[in-house]
Amino acid sequence: MNPYEMTIVEALSNMEEGKLSSVELTRSCLDRIDSVEKDVSAFITIDEAGAMEQAAKADSDRKGGKAGKLCGIPLSVKDLINTKGLKMTCGSKILENFIPPYDATVISKIKNEGAVILGKVAMDEFGMGSTSENCAYGVPVNPWKKGYVAGGSSGGSAVSVASLECAASLGSDTGGSIRQPASLCGIVGMKPTYGRVSRYGLTAFASSLDQVGPFSRSVEDCSRMMGVISGYDKMDSTSVKEDVPDFNRALTPGIEGMKVGVPREYFAEGLDPQVESIVRNSIEVLKDRGAQVVDVSLPHTEYCVAAYYLIAPSEASSNLARYDGALYGFRKPDADTLVEMYQNTRSEGFGAEVKRRILIGTYALSSGYYDAYYKKASQVRTLILDDFKKAFEACDVLISPVTPTPAWKLGENRDNPLALYMSDILTLSANLAGIPGMSVPGGFTSEGLPVGVQLQGGHFQEETLLKTGFNLEQGLNLEPGKLAI
Ligand code: GLN
Repeated sequence: MNPYEMTIVEALSNMEEGKLSSVELTRSCLDRIDSVEKDVSAFITIDEAGAMEQAAKADSDRKGGKAGKLCGIPLSVKDLINTKGLKMTCGSKILENFIPPYDATVISKIKNEGAVILGKVAMDEFGMGSTSENCAYGVPVNPWKKGYVAGGSSGGSAVSVASLECAASLGSDTGGSIRQPASLCGIVGMKPTYGRVSRYGLTAFASSLDQVGPFSRSVEDCSRMMGVISGYDKMDSTSVKEDVPDFNRALTPGIEGMKVGVPREYFAEGLDPQVESIVRNSIEVLKDRGAQVVDVSLPHTEYCVAAYYLIAPSEASSNLARYDGALYGFRKPDADTLVEMYQNTRSEGFGAEVKRRILIGTYALSSGYYDAYYKKASQVRTLILDDFKKAFEACDVLISPVTPTPAWKLGENRDNPLALYMSDILTLSANLAGIPGMSVPGGFTSEGLPVGVQLQGGHFQEETLLKTGFNLEQGLNLEPGKLAI
């Protein structure tokens, strides 16, 4: 086995046994990046020198008996998480050449545990999109089929892990941006409970919805990453003082007596039959492992797209006001007045989708419209949360598709924002309710495209998701598919 093919758990055990060094592993990942990047375009910035230096340090820490939980493991990071001294663009021209002066809390945490940061990966500008095509620095491509989208907005994270450039990545999920690309790229992705992981140093898109979470190729690796990044942080006022359990303890075979809910509304018209049959098969697998399957209803699901696409742009319009050319990032030169400088900088620095959202959000928050739009959407949000609360009285975990279809062709929906918004219908509710969600590989379509299965749980029930995901992974025991790279 090539070192770059190893999961975190495999690489750690090889390093513990002295059969592999982090320098060898990191070199192997960098060589893999070198050979496949031309086909997959996952990275915006590759920090070869920095990575090799961190790898050497990890090796010497390990020799000195100071090995952290991710000692020597090379990872990629979505390009909207602040990494001190390493460029962060947020996929936007407006932050070209921006060098963050500090590390996000999640970055400090993975560094403290010895992780090696290979570089920063591509994404839809400021996280706005579902295909990563709204990236100003190249579009990541699905490694399972040439010419197909990887999903988004954390497309680069998913592609780097699926195409074996690294074992894991950090992304962010505001309305599905971890679960959806994980599903379309055949890997594991988790959006934690809102408040479980610090947002300090995560560039804000929609602050009441954003969460950082991991991508990996196994549920166990996901659990390891969650153990490192979770926990209260005084630098994030929305982070929650909740004990972080030993997530790995949840990974035991058998789920006798667990109640798995199947939300009726998630199997509605428009669901691709192959996606449906993969999810139904996963339900059978969980039954075989001891689960009891119950039918549940989330009646306000049909309103989640409208509520999300008011709340997220409203918050974004406020959060993105800071990019005006005055302090950092791109500035359009030669303006005569300050206002002209703002106008020129923002007109040229932002892409079309970001501008569309700023316009919608500014409108929805404006005086006279706030009650009709933002406030109404917030009320709908409460109804969606109530749906979940009721559902979790009848079951421990919900199982459903992640997306209504498998990956589609690049360019297919580029000029149809509404079609893309609709494709988010199965992931947005978890963010609106603040609950954790996860995508676990469920199988492949006849065309060889991966399809994920979504698990959702009550607040701070990540252990239940990991346990269910682990049992699904074991029960399915999928044949590895064939990458198209
Ligand atoms: N696709 C959704 C959007 O465009 C979600 C993005 C995300 O989770 N960052 O807003």
